[in-house]
Amino acid sequence: METKTKATTAWLNTVEYREKNFAREKLVINPAKACQPLGALLCALGVEGCLPFTHGSQGCTAYFRSTLSRHYREPIAAVSDSMTEDSAVFGGQSNLIEGLKNAYAVYNPKVIAIFTSCMAEVIGDDINAYLGNAREQEAIPQDFPVAQANTPSFKGSHITGYDTMLKGLIDCLATPRQEDKINDRLYVVPGFDTYPANLREYKRLLKMMDAPYTLLPDYSDVVDAPNLGTFELYQKATSISEMNDALNAASYLLCQTYSTPTTSKYLASKAVPFETLSMPIGVAGTDKFIESVAKFTEKDVPEEITMERGRAIDAMTDSHQYIHGKKFALFGDPDVLIGLVSFLLEMGGEPVHIVCTNSTPLFKKAMESLLASSPYGQGATLYAGKDLWHLRSLLVTEPVDMLIGDSHGKWAARDANIPLVRVGFPITDRVNLHRYPIIGYSGVINLITMIVNTFLEDVDRNSPEAYFEMMR
Ligand code: SF4
Repeated sequence: METKTKATTAWLNTVEYREKNFAREKLVINPAKACQPLGALLCALGVEGCLPFTHGSQGCTAYFRSTLSRHYREPIAAVSDSMTEDSAVFGGQSNLIEGLKNAYAVYNPKVIAIFTSCMAEVIGDDINAYLGNAREQEAIPQDFPVAQANTPSFKGSHITGYDTMLKGLIDCLATPRQEDKINDRLYVVPGFDTYPANLREYKRLLKMMDAPYTLLPDYSDVVDAPNLGTFELYQKATSISEMNDALNAASYLLCQTYSTPTTSKYLASKAVPFETLSMPIGVAGTDKFIESVAKFTEKDVPEEITMERGRAIDAMTDSHQYIHGKKFALFGDPDVLIGLVSFLLEMGGEPVHIVCTNSTPLFKKAMESLLASSPYGQGATLYAGKDLWHLRSLLVTEPVDMLIGDSHGKWAARDANIPLVRVGFPITDRVNLHRYPIIGYSGVINLITMIVNTFLEDVDRNSPEAYFEMMR
């Protein structure tokens, strides 16, 4: 029996099995994505006094909350109207009305953000009509703001849910755009970004550049609250008054492309100016972000930022020899992948396997053109729509030096006997990584630190040379 198991395990590492694995059509194994409502929930946490509310199953809500809680090691507040079998037959209206009544009375929110789980979507619940009935039945006051997002998980993913919820929140809370009431602020949308340190980095850079701004949504304090001895259900987030004025923004800067298409389309329909960027990972990505903000403020880039950029370049120069020529496999969300690949190419690293379950034709085109722009990108292949079991086959048949992705990549990395540098979401088996930015020039330094020191640790542990890398 043992011999048979060993033989099967060995066969899983063959090219023959890889071909069979890639021929699979109906089965997905360990996809690199989460479901739509999880993204909606994260987005809703970023608005002051907002209570995320799942119209759907309690089990789904437990999954979103526990995944976010394990990543942040923080309690994540959200409620559900607990639809069960009877709601699947008769519809979830009574659950929604009862749930809204309780949520409003017990948790005292300033706004409720409703999003749906698969069950409500499969039976076609009309949340807008139910909401009207809830108001008529006085479950909530007539004028109480409730944002809505339809988030069916049988299509899209967490990034789609984030996007739809963001549009829903603006649509619910913002007053119509009035050309004589345009405010002076740049509304900066981070996109589906699970690093509170990234959100703080955006704010720090915007402050340094003297840009009047609103970060939307801003859940940095919600998912990374200080321990002061008491639990606050609602932490500081994007204020209601800034939400009310969101359509009167001077302009928007969307810092991810693939997690904001619905929001950008909505802004365009309201004649709100906006610009969409790639996530500012790496020097070129950060430069573009800084240039866009400088264009908005019409001010020079301050000296401190030039110094920060110089330090990042210095860190790259100090350590490029450890990344140059190394082969990498990566997986994750489209925006993070574009940023990471751009960073690796800047360092002379060679991406080989890029797995993106959430790929789109637009992303494929952007990634291929990024890879084509560098001599280090020539050996890379983008595996669009593939999962982490496909990735395992790639790693064991066409080895690389390092895997970059979230904690779900650890089994493939173990089987391939290569290190996994954890970037993305969720990261449940290491601490504090969400507290280090991966965007901006400081993100460049952090990525170098993580990647290079992982290589060095690995070599050092097995090196017969006791003075390995001790600079003498
Ligand atoms: S995929 Fe659908 S059923 Fe599964 S947790 Fe997400 S919303 Fe619930």
